Amino acid sequence: MTTEFSFIDDLGPEKIIEIYDPATGLKAILVVDNVAAGPAIGGVRMAVDVTAEECFRLARAMTLKNAMAGLAHGGGKSVIAADPGMPGAERSKLIKAFARAVADVRDYIPGPDMGTDEHAMAEVNHLIGRAVGLPREVGGIPLDEIGATGHGLAVALEAAAPFCDLNLGEARVVVQGFGSVGQHAIRFLSERGARLVGVSDSGGARVCPAGFDLAALLDAKSQGHSVASFDQGDAIDPEDLIAVECEVWIPAARPDVIREDNASRMQTKVVAQGANIPATPAAEELLAGNDVLVIPDFVANAGGVICGAVEYHGGSQSQAMETIADRIRGNVTEVLTRSAADKELPRAAALRIARERVLKAMSFI
Ligand code: NAD
Repeated sequence: MTTEFSFIDDLGPEKIIEIYDPATGLKAILVVDNVAAGPAIGGVRMAVDVTAEECFRLARAMTLKNAMAGLAHGGGKSVIAADPGMPGAERSKLIKAFARAVADVRDYIPGPDMGTDEHAMAEVNHLIGRAVGLPREVGGIPLDEIGATGHGLAVALEAAAPFCDLNLGEARVVVQGFGSVGQHAIRFLSERGARLVGVSDSGGARVCPAGFDLAALLDAKSQGHSVASFDQGDAIDPEDLIAVECEVWIPAARPDVIREDNASRMQTKVVAQGANIPATPAAEELLAGNDVLVIPDFVANAGGVICGAVEYHGGSQSQAMETIADRIRGNVTEVLTRSAADKELPRAAALRIARERVLKAMSFI
């Protein structure tokens, strides 16, 4: 074995496929991590600088997320080494070459991820007859448009409320990253009475302790404006958003925004992780020590993949929303109950539960 296989363990990965298509210049990697529960669902990421090891880590995260969500699917991921900003026709050529290359890897179902979208998934589906995250016109449930992940985050917070003395009806919420996940999360939370007091996007950050006019803010975003130019509240340094006083803090942008050097500035009761890996392990330890409850990413942000799985099995939008609520509510309660009983971090409890489910599925093979 070569050193590239240094990351294999008792769960996987089952397949690591390197793809090169000289006709189009496609360079891609597909990792199918574990398929004990069923064919792997995992996104196709397009980025310039991607490695097999990164692809494996993302695939493993999908194995655990899908197991946690109780889906009949294992985890996988693929990466295409290319600039997602390239002209549409060239992008299409690469996507189609990728689809043809994975056509016979039947235990992998592609989905959208950074750099790919529902249009790309429609192209893949047309060629190989399988993909999730499809446009409505070809039978898909547009998960970003309906706010599948934001809906799941709101349910996760409802389920977490008894564990951290949270009254969602009066909660002040901070959202870091006001894209699909962030906007829908606060939309669903505001229906429960919560108010947005701090927000940021790549253009800047603002605070409004009395609560932003959410409809006006969402309208401004839909017209392409940054939250930074909104005419309510005050502009702040984006680095200071971490310290805004609130009950709920939602990272919904980049990895590692909560770190050992800034976690102790947080003045919140709960962090609901919308983004993937938004906090470092040391930061999560520190937050636990400061009585800040963290709902881990692969438990809280599973709404998107649950929606994709319901779509794949022919379910409707309302079935997807119900399944998301049902699975996430149950999982958050189980994770936080075990975390409290065993005096371990929510992430450690969640990892244990997800691993147990994967190993159990493997015992049936
Ligand atoms: P998006 O592109 O719609 O939104 C991202 C937002 O983050 C944008 O508003 C952008 O301006 C903002 N942003 C970027 N850099 C920032 C920075 N440094 N500071 C503050 N804001 C910044 O993406 P999305 O679909 O909302 O996904 C957000 C995160 O959630 C990603 O980490 C993604 O992997 C994760 N996630 C998304 C889904 C889903 O269903 N879309 C599911 C699970 C996890």
